[in-house]
Amino acid sequence: MRLHDPGTSLVLERRPVPAPGPGQVLLKVRACGVCRTDLHLIDGELPNPKLPVVPGHEIVGTVVSCGEGANHRPGTRLGVPWLGYTCGKCQFCSGGQENLCDRAAFTGYQLDGGYAEHVVADARYCFELPSTLDDAHAAPLLCAGLIGYRSWRMADGAKRLGIYGFGAAAHLVTQVATHKGQEVFAFTRAGDVTAQRFAMGLGAQWAGASEDRSPALLDAAIIFAPSGALVPLALRAVRKGGRVVCGGIHMSDIPALPYSLLWGERSIHSVANLTRRDGHEFLALAGEIGIQPSITTLPLARANEALDRLRNGALSGAAVLIP
Ligand SMILES: [Zn+2]
Ligand SMILES: [Zn+2]
Repeated sequence: MRLHDPGTSLVLERRPVPAPGPGQVLLKVRACGVCRTDLHLIDGELPNPKLPVVPGHEIVGTVVSCGEGANHRPGTRLGVPWLGYTCGKCQFCSGGQENLCDRAAFTGYQLDGGYAEHVVADARYCFELPSTLDDAHAAPLLCAGLIGYRSWRMADGAKRLGIYGFGAAAHLVTQVATHKGQEVFAFTRAGDVTAQRFAMGLGAQWAGASEDRSPALLDAAIIFAPSGALVPLALRAVRKGGRVVCGGIHMSDIPALPYSLLWGERSIHSVANLTRRDGHEFLALAGEIGIQPSITTLPLARANEALDRLRNGALSGAAVLIP
């Protein structure tokens, strides 16, 4: 399923199976999650995509063959995340911040992704996955889970944690946070009773509308919804010294806000991409605490429908495409 021009639907095409280059693996795709970033790509909100491009960066596949220098036994199950390549040399790569690499390439954006039957990936950026989850349930861990985990890590051990936007990432972060004994306060679109019930079912202390006053002062908040208007609302809900973490890759403009909302050493922090360390830590944790993603599966050929349902908020948890 390829994107030719931003603003158009994906097109189902039959193409030759790619050959793995040096250091790459060829995977047969077993499942690929649908992420909000795919919508931003398709809507033309991300700069400089490779076009045409196969979207999809929550890929679970099994090894078919390896290029020179990659050593995985055929049949091994691997996950392919958003971070597809880094230079290994720039100041960020050498300083433990490969997520900020100047020459990074991202799966399903600058590299063909997993909305396909086969994909090639740089073996160094692939992850082994917890054996507790089947292919479809493991897929959302690879972005919603990983970026959610990095966002949660930036929220720095908050006892009371607010989450704005209760979709795929939030439902996984909530399971991590409640496992760690944190209290989760879920903020959704006003009247989105389905999302609020979903949050409560996963152990949230409270769920309500983003505009509601938080029932408790929060130590930190994570914003997963792509709306800049949530930033002042979240700042209002955190205590002095608290942090507001913006977990999305794209967000609408943040409206002007009174300095008093930021005063008291509150901070706003964005999360960009992921490091392989985030991946290893989170996937080990996911296996250990038995994270259970909530998914809706659709056949690969119905990718456009899955994207529409995500756009319209008609999904609880994550959509996963099955070739
Ligand atoms: Zn680099
Ligand atoms: Zn994603």
